[in-house]
Amino acid sequence: MIPYGRQDISDADIAAVVDVLRSDWLTQGPAIERFEQAVASYSGARYAVAVCNATAALHIACLALDLGEGDLLWTSPNTFVASANCALYCGADAGFVDIDGASYNLDPDQLEAKLAHAAAHGGKLPKIVIPVHFAGQSCDMARIHALSQRYGFAVIEDASHAIGASYQQARVGCCAFSDMTVFSFHPVKIVTTGEGGMVLTNRRDLYDKLVRLRSHGITRDPAMMDESPEGAWSYQQVELGFNYRITDLQAALGTSQLTRLDAFISRRRYLAKRYDRLLEGLPLERPRGSQLASSAWHLYVIRLHLDALGKDRRQVFDELRARGIGVNVHYIPVHTQPHYRRRGFAAGDFPVAEQYYREAISLPMFYALDDARQDQVVAALREVLA
Ligand SMILES: *Cc1c(COP(=O)(O)O)cnc(C)c1O
Repeated sequence: MIPYGRQDISDADIAAVVDVLRSDWLTQGPAIERFEQAVASYSGARYAVAVCNATAALHIACLALDLGEGDLLWTSPNTFVASANCALYCGADAGFVDIDGASYNLDPDQLEAKLAHAAAHGGKLPKIVIPVHFAGQSCDMARIHALSQRYGFAVIEDASHAIGASYQQARVGCCAFSDMTVFSFHPVKIVTTGEGGMVLTNRRDLYDKLVRLRSHGITRDPAMMDESPEGAWSYQQVELGFNYRITDLQAALGTSQLTRLDAFISRRRYLAKRYDRLLEGLPLERPRGSQLASSAWHLYVIRLHLDALGKDRRQVFDELRARGIGVNVHYIPVHTQPHYRRRGFAAGDFPVAEQYYREAISLPMFYALDDARQDQVVAALREVLA
């Protein structure tokens, strides 16, 4: 089976992890800060906080902005459940803004309309909006930022798919149009640490808070303590935090992987262009690029022209799987998950995301996918769609 995504681990990656195993620190050591600095400097953000996964990163990012009971967070329905669950972890409500049918990202027109409607009718406005850079292509951040200024919400970019992508000539992660950006280092993502995530920000106050929340809400900084420290052993828990730490083993793997990020991205861009060429003329929609953003190509998603096919997505999916092509589907709209239906959402609430979902298939896309195996994917697809 050709998988839809796969990590690529080099001998240098392995050596970096082994070095940590032989060192004094398996966790809370120097490899973590090195990883944070490498990602911050690559992305152009001032501060970075590495954590155990992107789900934890989203959680503490929301807490750092004081999201809590009675608050509202909006995100895209076309995402992994973690982008919305972070609101519920904080005791807040999650809501959604439908996607646009070209980029499959949160639609800024619908965001604007929904904000204006809530403002005009005494509805609740969101405290946080989480745009998700679907498949590695940045949302229209300048517009979302302008709306955040007008309506007073904070912005956390869920860039789990988008390390190495850019928007308006700047790297995703620089936080030019947001308060924080989150990356995921799960093995199917672009750079991996096994499990891992990171929050980037340019705000010192958020950085300090994120560092405390990552580790139990504990500080060793005398300036933060309620009374002066008893001795050199002193620490104080000044708020309720978690153990969301990443290990030095993982951080060393991440730093080593990062040295190949540009190669990862250029291979993915090459494969995307090649798919574009090879799929021409088939009854499907290829991903559409954007003038403003250069994608990291976490995913290559096609949309089937079901009317022309006389087959549904499930048939096409099953027939591809039967031919050894490990296709996948991204994403089941979050609001249609049972947990969200029980919270009052229903099928039909976000029709663009739902229509997109019925037609979408993610083709194999990863660094080590070679041309021959990509040809195999395309040949299988041609057969199934014939
Ligand atoms: C993978 C992913 C997450 C969660 O990442 P983990 O590191 O697995 O917790 C969140 N949001 C999106 C959009 C993702 O793709």
